[in-house]
Order: sequence, then structure tokens, then C-alpha cells
Amino acid sequence: MSKIRSRDTKIEKVMYSPLIEMGLEYHLDGIEGKPEFVHKGEKVAIFLDGCYWHACTQHCRLPKTNREFWLKKFIRNRKRDREVTAKLVSEGWLVIRVWGHMVKKDLDHVVETVRKALKGRKALDNKVGGVRYL
Ligand SMILES: [Zn+2]
Repeated sequence: MSKIRSRDTKIEKVMYSPLIEMGLEYHLDGIEGKPEFVHKGEKVAIFLDGCYWHACTQHCRLPKTNREFWLKKFIRNRKRDREVTAKLVSEGWLVIRVWGHMVKKDLDHVVETVRKALKGRKALDNKVGGVRYL
């Protein structure tokens, strides 16, 4: 998984400053699925899903060769994403999965959504799991 994620450094870079400023930590160890950003106290995990490796239906195209191999790989990646999300949610985390194309298209919206979500979590005494897709 870390191999996959290292390809998406561009979207990580633009998200870095605003999220660190909000008190999130980058690549914190020991969290299921290795989310890119985490707020441990509020139990918020942010995954930046690159369109290619996470097989976004709008932008991921199968390579022309070895199509079956790649198709299986993309299906596996997506299944793993779902499993990781479900596990964290069951442990009370708010999981925010952000598509790479959303970061490129409207960074302000993504950052604002995270800010509001974090604020919402702070108001909760009892952290309940949930998931948001952007
Ligand atoms: Zn996409």
C-alpha cells in the first residue's frame, strides 16, 4: 500500500500546509490503512486517493497491455480501501476519502470540508464512526 501511495505525492503536497495548520499529522504510524493525514485526538483520518491507483471511475483507464492483471489489481485496491474504511469506522473514526481530482479541482472546498468536519468532531463527546467521500 505504501508503494501505491508514494505515487500521489503531488496531491499530498498541496494538502500539507492547510491540514498541518489545523492540527492534523502527516503519515502518522500505526493507523490502519496508513491514511495520509490524521487527527488522533478527534479520530479523523484523511485518505487522499489518487485517481489511478484507487481506480476512480472518471479518470482511471486500463493500460492497453496486461489488462486482466491490471483489472484484478485495481479491484483489489478498491476492495482494500473499503475494508480499511469499514475497520476505522467501526473503531469510531471519521474517515474522509478524497479523490485526487477533487484536490486538483477545488482545493478550497476540500480544505473547508475537513475544517468543518474537525469542528464537528470537537463538539462531540462521544466519537461515532462515519465516512465521507469527496
Ligand atoms: Zn478521478
